[in-house]
Amino acid sequence: WTQETLSVVVVGASGDLARKKIYPALFALYVEDMLPENFSVYGYARSKMSDEEFRDYIGGSLTCRVTDEDSCGDKYDTFLERCYYQPGQYSDESDFKALSERMTGTEKDRKKANRIFYLSIPPSIFTAVAGCASKAASSPSGWTRVIVEKPFGKDSESFAQLERELSNFLTEDQMYRIDHYLGKELIENLTVLRFANLVFEPLWSRNYIRNVQVIFSEDFGTEGRGGYFDQYGIIRDVIQNHLLQIVSLFAMEAPVSLDAEHIRNEKVKVLHCMKQLTLDDVVVGQYRGRQGKGHSYPGYLDDDTVPPGSLCPTFAAVALFINNARWDGVPFLLKAGKALANRRTEIRVQFRNVPGNLFSDRLSLNGMDLDRSTNELVMRIQPNEAIYLKINNKIPGLGMKLDTTKLDLTYKQRYNVHLPDAYERLILDVVNGDKRLFIRNDELDAAWALFTPILKEIESKKVQPELYPYGSRGPVGSHYLASKYGVRWGDILSADE
Ligand code: NAP
Repeated sequence: WTQETLSVVVVGASGDLARKKIYPALFALYVEDMLPENFSVYGYARSKMSDEEFRDYIGGSLTCRVTDEDSCGDKYDTFLERCYYQPGQYSDESDFKALSERMTGTEKDRKKANRIFYLSIPPSIFTAVAGCASKAASSPSGWTRVIVEKPFGKDSESFAQLERELSNFLTEDQMYRIDHYLGKELIENLTVLRFANLVFEPLWSRNYIRNVQVIFSEDFGTEGRGGYFDQYGIIRDVIQNHLLQIVSLFAMEAPVSLDAEHIRNEKVKVLHCMKQLTLDDVVVGQYRGRQGKGHSYPGYLDDDTVPPGSLCPTFAAVALFINNARWDGVPFLLKAGKALANRRTEIRVQFRNVPGNLFSDRLSLNGMDLDRSTNELVMRIQPNEAIYLKINNKIPGLGMKLDTTKLDLTYKQRYNVHLPDAYERLILDVVNGDKRLFIRNDELDAAWALFTPILKEIESKKVQPELYPYGSRGPVGSHYLASKYGVRWGDILSADE
């Protein structure tokens, strides 16, 4: 690495994502000495700023999870010294040429200059930027990689068009499509849990698993950002990408190796096995305003940036089935919503009843419903990361009283570390050329093929979302959907966890 330089260009440097996630992640990697010694950050956007103003702008956003603020002091200043700003238009090659010339300045004397372009911009300008960057600012001596953020289109057709346009300028090898959920600690651990332990994988099938639930809930609404959200809705924003990615990692067959292509081959296969969705498999909802104690919570339609009368779903529940030997008949229930009672993302795996359970009488005597006392494995992705397994246990003492309790691995208690943010892990993977946690184009093709018909049907039939109060547990329809498949949502059963 001593002969190499790395320049990270943040295109859309003045934006929200850049400030909230990208600069803090780069800083944490720098503090952890994970970046090459000769490393620089270039901000690029239309806004006018000097280098000094840019440093002030990002300075306030640099949280340091690694050590306390004092011991980061030095690194804070030396990091900012490596940050530069270049104003320019997004479709002007000469502006990108000027950026490239500046980068050459910090890259001089090195044999190999590698460049990363992070496209933190609206999708309408992805292609223009990819074109200008590749023609006028590609690295002359090292590799050039481009990070693209969702949304990757709105349906199969727009995704295919985006891919066609980007492929005029970038090879698949250069493209890193981010789904930041894949960078989360617990999601990376999913493969370890399954394939590095003997006890889980043999149970990981229709023989022992009754249903799988992937639940995403936010306890706040669009809060003034509804204009963006309204063009997409919760299915495109969360379910078609983040939750489906989780399901494909959860349900895939064992890959040949941990190589990125091997893992992604298995994920695509499982996506291809998913049964086509119909309207009967989907419930959509939208939050309405609610008057709380001394506070009023606005409904989705009260957001000034949302078009009046919008039918955009802020909640959706989907029942998915995977038609293969491992998962035939097992419901995968996905649920995502805004303005719900709590904020959490988790995977819940409910196991089947114990056949001929010797303790069934005892369980009902103790007031325990058999369904509620089956084993459940929960992976809480956020907040307060944890993996726990619910088991039935004898309450210590005389007599035979049973209780459902947890074998509990709460990360905060077990590991005394601040977990890296997903963006840290993902940016580091781009630097190292590791594509395991990035989405390949055929995965997105398959994901859109699954959701495009149902999205079109919801939109063309103007399906009315079921209203639910802000801060509630979501529309009642999601319970009917679950009960149709004999399922009870685990997060509702265990609201105290
Ligand atoms: P943003 O703040 O709306 O935009 C980023 C920058 O792009 C702006 O500062 C602006 O810079 C430029 N820009 C905005 N609208 C433009 C337009 N219509 N034409 C040309 N330039 C425009 O976006 P963001 O929230 O940072 O998100 C960046 C990308 O990440 C988007 O694709 C978004 O969908 C995705 N994303 C964001 C988040 C998040 O948490 N924010 C999460 C996941 C994915 P100048 O005016 O200075 O040029």
